[in-house]
Amino acid sequence: MTGPDRIVPLYSSSSGNSTLIKSRGTYILVDCGMSCKMMTKALVACGVYPEDVSAIFLTHRHSDHINGVPVFSRKYHTPIYGTRATLAVLDGLASPVTEIEENDIVQLENGPEVRAFPTPHDVNGSVCYRIINHDSGNSIAVMTDLGRMNDGMKGFARACDVILLESNYDPYMLEHGEYPWPLKKRISGGHGHISNPESAEVAEFFINNGTKKFILGHLSPHNNTPDIARQTFTTSLADRGFVEGIDYEVKIAKKDMPSEGYVL
Ligand SMILES: [Zn+2]
Ligand SMILES: [Zn+2]
Repeated sequence: MTGPDRIVPLYSSSSGNSTLIKSRGTYILVDCGMSCKMMTKALVACGVYPEDVSAIFLTHRHSDHINGVPVFSRKYHTPIYGTRATLAVLDGLASPVTEIEENDIVQLENGPEVRAFPTPHDVNGSVCYRIINHDSGNSIAVMTDLGRMNDGMKGFARACDVILLESNYDPYMLEHGEYPWPLKKRISGGHGHISNPESAEVAEFFINNGTKKFILGHLSPHNNTPDIARQTFTTSLADRGFVEGIDYEVKIAKKDMPSEGYVL
């Protein structure tokens, strides 16, 4: 397989997450959080057969990231990578399974290098990923379920060409919405998800370090909207002197269908 590197969010929300990445001629999935049927539908819509996926890298064991894994594995035997805590909840796999550490670097044969990095999310073994094509120098990061952004994660994704960045909730909508208080606290308490303003704030760091392409993802269907996420991001960055279309581009990952990603 040849052709340019690309990233396409297939599904992105608390109902299910999966991102398709082509790097160095190799297709990989980060997470497989929808049913095998839905995963297949999204892949085919992107012109990719499930059999063409060389590896699935799992971020963590929450169901919205792993739901489709067992059936997909039994059907397509795709190699699966995840930390011990993530793999521990997966039964009935029919794939080669590779356990990784939270800071591992995996070199796929004839493919990209995939680096993991721990996130302070509220289950053990949660990681984000950076996918590096050493031929072109392109680098793509998938950064969701972050808890709270820290310097380690900033350094990890620094200077990536594209970052799929969590922008989970609007603080006002979360505070005034109907979620019970413990759930509100879980989401915003530093081990759940990062908010629209937090996402915009960290984007300033990434832009200053060379990233120009962003996809906002894992939007809450209850406490966020694509318009509010985009508006908060662009307004906040404009306040910091960054102009959309000149200093950076931003797209929003759709909840239940493949989104327009980027071709590098
Ligand atoms: Zn999630
Ligand atoms: Zn999660």
